[in-house]
Amino acid sequence: MEAIGHRIQRFATEQGDKAAVISESGVLNWRELVQQANRIANRLRDAGLQHGETVAALSENSAEYVALYLGTLVAGGCMVPLSGMASAEALGLMLADSRARFLFVSEKNRDLLSEFRQSLADLSEDTILALGNNGTNIGLPMAEWLLGTSADPAPDDVSLDDPFNIIYSSGTTGTPKGILHDYRFRQRQMVRMSRFGLDGDAVNLVSTPLYSNTTLVSVLPTLFHGGTLVTMAKFDAHRFLSLAEQHRVTHAMLVPVQYQRILADPEFDRFDLSSFKLKLCTSAPLRASVIAEAMQRWPGNIREVYGLTEGGISTSLDCGAYPDKWDSVGLPTEGAEVRVIDDAGNEVANGKIGEIVGRAISMMRGYVNRPEQTEEMLWTSPGGDVFYRSGDMGRIDEDGFIYILDRRKDMIISGGFNIYAVDLEKVLLAHPDVVDVAVIGIPSDHWGETPLGLVVRAIGSTATESDILHWANNQLGKTQRLSAIELRSELPRSTIGKVLKRELRAPYWQGEA
Ligand code: ATP
Repeated sequence: MEAIGHRIQRFATEQGDKAAVISESGVLNWRELVQQANRIANRLRDAGLQHGETVAALSENSAEYVALYLGTLVAGGCMVPLSGMASAEALGLMLADSRARFLFVSEKNRDLLSEFRQSLADLSEDTILALGNNGTNIGLPMAEWLLGTSADPAPDDVSLDDPFNIIYSSGTTGTPKGILHDYRFRQRQMVRMSRFGLDGDAVNLVSTPLYSNTTLVSVLPTLFHGGTLVTMAKFDAHRFLSLAEQHRVTHAMLVPVQYQRILADPEFDRFDLSSFKLKLCTSAPLRASVIAEAMQRWPGNIREVYGLTEGGISTSLDCGAYPDKWDSVGLPTEGAEVRVIDDAGNEVANGKIGEIVGRAISMMRGYVNRPEQTEEMLWTSPGGDVFYRSGDMGRIDEDGFIYILDRRKDMIISGGFNIYAVDLEKVLLAHPDVVDVAVIGIPSDHWGETPLGLVVRAIGSTATESDILHWANNQLGKTQRLSAIELRSELPRSTIGKVLKRELRAPYWQGEA
């Protein structure tokens, strides 16, 4: 298989004038993008970067960032995309853990850099660079660093076993772990995603951050096949709609909360979105009611994807083809297999709830510097096949569709019964005044744990906590009943839209075992 860094070279000649990246700072055509990537690759190599060595980036989405990503890959390096939402301490740990040889920082992250710069023992001043042309208090600006560097392609000597990227888990379930993917993992994904139309004709509007796997799953195939990216540095629903119309966008990978915000835009129906072929959705459950609305008002199909950054587990739901399965995450993708196991590690029958395990053609190499945790993720079937444990509780229905109920760690065990937050959240969301909700387990002397509903009401609603509590408990089973409702103005979410349940739970568990 041809590595991406080598493959993109042809786009510079075959379609040099075609837009490759449309960003806030202008348009880079394919010739310019490939030349810039080649310059970056040559400069990295001149500075001693070896295959598999790491180049870290701390930046919002931009054309420069895309060029840096490709440049690192052309050089045979391994990209470490870092989150600007992470704490300075966590960033210092990630850079040390991944042994970053270079760090590129955008202007917007300058202050954050100053908070952890002192802790970067392994990075010398000349390996911290400004991603962009303003280097004040960061390092040499990119353009200066590249002065006099050739734009000829670097030798094609990348092996598919070389490390491609290290993605740090968002930490919604603990300390960030570095997930290492090799070139083979990514190349398989890039080839496979062309089935969803992410190919040379795609115009992919990228509004989730480039440091998340969610984003890369659609961005890398678009580049691999010579399509066009439209990047947003920061998501804004109205701007998303105007960019989509202006650039005749065909694809977007969105997280559920973005669907809600886009559909809620008062001018949604005025935009011409007829160029859309497919919207992808991943990272958290996409509510059936939101799918229904999007299918009706927004041209193009929707495909919900379930998976982990670690890989190994992969399902998808074609929303247009299976309107009666919108509560599920669909079927295993081609070449993937999913099973459900109980606490003792035995497979359970269809319909029964347990932990989702899976295997797919692509799995991570492992967690960086954490062999035990890599090992803990594995489950071996009686037939001797190795599966990945998802940490998610779920079930498979009689037609083979997979339903996700809760993260295992978020599951509430009350009086010996397992309560899945999703069941309670669904009931609460059906209340006409409830617009957002998270159910968490809090300590209870009597039950061990008990469910608490954190609710955001619609603007203008006068429903009280006790109105909502009684309304919901009337519909819930005896063992599922909520102990209380608390009103909130909003729920904390990660940058890719996941409700941060750990953060919500923490104050209630202080001082508990
Ligand atoms: P951490 O493990 O620290 O939370 P993360 O959130 O970055 O890190 P990801 O690999 O992005 O980890 O998330 C994988 C998890 O996201 C899955 O295990 C599942 O809980 C959830 N998830 C992903 N896709 C879907 C989906 N379509 N529906 C419901 N949940 C989903």
